[in-house]
Amino acid sequence: MSSKPALITDPDIILGYLTDASNTHGRAEALAVPADVDALAATLRWAQDRGMPVTVTARRTGTTGAAVPDGGLLLSTERLSQVEAPDIVGGGALLGPHQDTLEAAGQHFPPDPTSRYECSVGGAIVCNASGARSFRYGATRGWIDWVDVVLPTGERLERVSRDTPLPAGWPRLRWAEPPVKTAAGYAPADNLLDLLIGSEGTLGVITRAGLRLRPAPAGVLTMLAFFPDLETTLRFVDQARSGADRARAPRPKPGPLNPRAIEYFDPNALEMIRARVDLPAGATDALLLEVEHEGEAPLDRWFEALVEGGALAEHTVVAEDEQGQRRLAAIRHALPAGTNERVVANRMPKVGTDFAVPDAALAEMMAEYRAVTLPHVCFGHIGDNHLHLNLLPRDATELAEARSTYRRLAERAVALGGTVSAEHGIGKLKRALLAHQVGPETLGAFAALKAAADPAWILGRGTLLEPPPAPGGAV
Ligand SMILES: Cc1cc2nc3c(=O)[nH]c(=O)nc-3n(C[C@H](O)[C@H](O)[C@H](O)COP(=O)(O)OP(=O)(O)OC[C@H]3O[C@@H](n4cnc5c(N)ncnc54)[C@H](O)[C@@H]3O)c2cc1C
Repeated sequence: MSSKPALITDPDIILGYLTDASNTHGRAEALAVPADVDALAATLRWAQDRGMPVTVTARRTGTTGAAVPDGGLLLSTERLSQVEAPDIVGGGALLGPHQDTLEAAGQHFPPDPTSRYECSVGGAIVCNASGARSFRYGATRGWIDWVDVVLPTGERLERVSRDTPLPAGWPRLRWAEPPVKTAAGYAPADNLLDLLIGSEGTLGVITRAGLRLRPAPAGVLTMLAFFPDLETTLRFVDQARSGADRARAPRPKPGPLNPRAIEYFDPNALEMIRARVDLPAGATDALLLEVEHEGEAPLDRWFEALVEGGALAEHTVVAEDEQGQRRLAAIRHALPAGTNERVVANRMPKVGTDFAVPDAALAEMMAEYRAVTLPHVCFGHIGDNHLHLNLLPRDATELAEARSTYRRLAERAVALGGTVSAEHGIGKLKRALLAHQVGPETLGAFAALKAAADPAWILGRGTLLEPPPAPGGAV
């Protein structure tokens, strides 16, 4: 039997670890904050011997309850935050500050979740996080070359890469992920690295990661462009992305408009930012566009395209320098913050979508969102056909309606060939949606994989999959 690790059992300390950004609350008997990988592996072996549930907790910005424990032990990665080299960081390191350091040195690690200044590198890896720039660069997956991991059994593996086969006895998954940006379910990967990415803390603990870096862009042009109606906006989205060098459709020779990000604001989102920006008369929708460039910013080309595309072009807010870009970024970031303020004021849960659909289904999905009559605000990554429709119920009746609307829209997204989660993951709150999307056979294959990797099913119980009856294990 392994020896007992250092555990914190003070309920006041544990209290700070029992929730995440989903605002659901859990319970745990103890908290371990290992100082190094040896201590972390020993803690997992000790828990494995007892069949004790373990929930990995990092920065708790997840929105799906994945980091919220349902009893057992919490395992924090916060002390594994060392930066060994620009491209080698601990799983517990904060993402955004490291990206800033890289950029100051002319290097770029592209994944840009809006929460990057609060979330950890390990959290971003296991959630396969992404953001606005995933339009150009894809999700976190494409920017990780290797990880060090501790498996649920306590076994340590170093430099797990795309050359690392699945461990003996782990079944290979063969299911077809939808052809969209997706973070729903285990990846059908033939190597251990790609399987761990997106596994939401259920197959191993990422202790260190090797990042793939690229040179920072020479210049970035950011524009907030206003449109007179949704139809014109969608036509411009199609035009802007038709020649773009996209993660999902790479082009060695992109067309003249080659944005790296296309973000959308609906009329309610525009209302939310009214105090921060002059809204032109007649503007109903807006796009925030980011364009990388060498030499002079391609402003004239974009202005012409906006005029031709029917935008309210002369009112476009343009940012070429860092200060202006920070202002536009703050406007974009004001949307999730403003939404959360409304949620708090309403004293009701937020019901927010994270669906993505194929390009051909964007207009249909947007029409579904636009037809919603409950209070809502819709914004997000329209380049990837990935919008966040936040329903803002004001009472119990509206909450029930919001939940059924959400479910109906999820089913619609799946029917259109999309995903129930493009970036936030499934966690504990969206298991039923994952089951709907993948069907019983694939769900069974996920469970068989989990059982092979974690026979006592201790790690991340209840995330992605309904757990088997709770094992024992006292602290
Ligand atoms: C305001 C806001 C904006 C957001 N914007 C985005 C966005 O644009 N794009 C996006 O993709 N997400 C976004 N998110 C969701 C969230 O920030 C990301 O999913 C993030 O990657 C979670 O990181 P974390 O360190 O907070 O992990 P936590 O919330 O602590 O944990 C999340 C999951 O990862 C597991 N985990 C964490 N670290 C490890 C590790 N080292 N090894 C194994 N498992 C681990 C946990 O067990 C849990 O299952 C947003 C969240 C908020 C609150």
